[in-house]
Amino acid sequence: MSAPYAIRIVGDPVLRKRAEEVTDIDAELVALTEDMFATMYEAPGIGLAAPQVGVARRFFVFDLEAGLGQQVLINPVIVEGEGEWEFSEGCLSVPGLHFDIVRPKTILVRGIDLDGNDVEFEADELLARLVQHELDHLDGVLLLDHLDDDERREARRTIRKLQMGLQEPEPEPKKSFFRFR
Ligand code: ZN
Repeated sequence: MSAPYAIRIVGDPVLRKRAEEVTDIDAELVALTEDMFATMYEAPGIGLAAPQVGVARRFFVFDLEAGLGQQVLINPVIVEGEGEWEFSEGCLSVPGLHFDIVRPKTILVRGIDLDGNDVEFEADELLARLVQHELDHLDGVLLLDHLDDDERREARRTIRKLQMGLQEPEPEPKKSFFRFR
């Protein structure tokens, strides 16, 4: 089965807009999350934000447990963050590249689940990283925005070469399962 959606990649304007709040959790939204899970698993990835499939609305899907832990978070907000943690992040919307990025290690997150219930949870390390990465997508922020000017210039050069087929993608880091999408 092929994925229901083609994942949008860097250069697509939908990745650069601030997505709109979700006001209604209806059957259409539920169906969309199902298609997003299918797209995410095929990639494969462990998180996927709505703008990555061209939908500028504030929600994302994720699953840290390879098919056993499907979760949807709607209108997410990071209430507080603590500590620092460096991690090599990749993104399906910036294919072929990974960057060591420092972000808060632990965060407190609020949002709404697919049943319309308010949820609040503390996330640490990998889950905290995933939530911050996906929330960036809802604000039109990509990995490139976390780099300094030199790194960003170099990354843009590499992206152009990759897109023109002049360069091979980087090999995946060892913990490839932990790539963020
Ligand atoms: Zn991403």
